[in-house]
Amino acid sequence: MASALDIRGIRKSFGKGERQVEVLKRIDIDVKPGEFLILVGPSGCGKSTLLNLIAGLDDPTEGAIRIGDRDVVGVPPAQRDIAMVFQSYALYPTMSVAENIGFAMEIRKVPKAERTKRIAEVAAMLQISHLLDRRPSQLSGGQRQRVAMGRALARQPELFLFDEPLSNLDAKLRVEMRAEIKRLHQISGITSVYVTHDQIEAMTLGSRIAVMKDGLVQQLGTPDEIYNRPANTYVATFIGSPT
Ligand code: ADP
Ligand code: MG
Repeated sequence: MASALDIRGIRKSFGKGERQVEVLKRIDIDVKPGEFLILVGPSGCGKSTLLNLIAGLDDPTEGAIRIGDRDVVGVPPAQRDIAMVFQSYALYPTMSVAENIGFAMEIRKVPKAERTKRIAEVAAMLQISHLLDRRPSQLSGGQRQRVAMGRALARQPELFLFDEPLSNLDAKLRVEMRAEIKRLHQISGITSVYVTHDQIEAMTLGSRIAVMKDGLVQQLGTPDEIYNRPANTYVATFIGSPT
């Protein structure tokens, strides 16, 4: 099967000369269509750096990234068919929920009737149909997070990127939104790459998991493989110990 996302021999350094630090040392990851791939590892191991390279927010020092059958290194983010959800989701404060969800489609000149239909579909999926006329300031944290996801989903991207989207939420809401993200992935089938430092989140959401440490993938496998056949002591310890 062709890959939805293929990351080959990626290296990334920051700084110059003596100050140069190699943050990603050699990353190879192949993501199949419809997969939910988790990048998990401790803070500072290079997860966000890798996600930003996939999004096109930065360029690798070395290596290739393909999305579908397209080589995307050097292609600006707006020309990659991706949507990103971060932990700090900035909704447009003066727009209603419906307008927030529809904005990207409006920019792309999607006809109004089609936009309205798509907004209604996405709102139904996220169970926020009753909130469409509200402003972001009239929503709870969890509702705002749903709108942020709705905005990303409405674009029907080829690839969904998440960078610790739940880490600002309280524990109860985090569990609820985790289930929500899982359900949305099952419905939409959109290939996803999800960054977290939370082992439980990784094990419950991932179809495959890349365990990272110091800019390297220590193991890439299904939750079952990672749990039952850890590749080394690091993986065994990391997966076995809640942060
Ligand atoms: P994670 O998301 O896993 O917590 P990051 O990818 O954000 O880690 O960061 C990995 C390392 O790269 C950290 O040591 C961080 O300080 C460094 N780093 C990230 N971005 C930059 C940058 N723009 N310039 C210099 N160093 C950076
Ligand atoms: Mg990060």
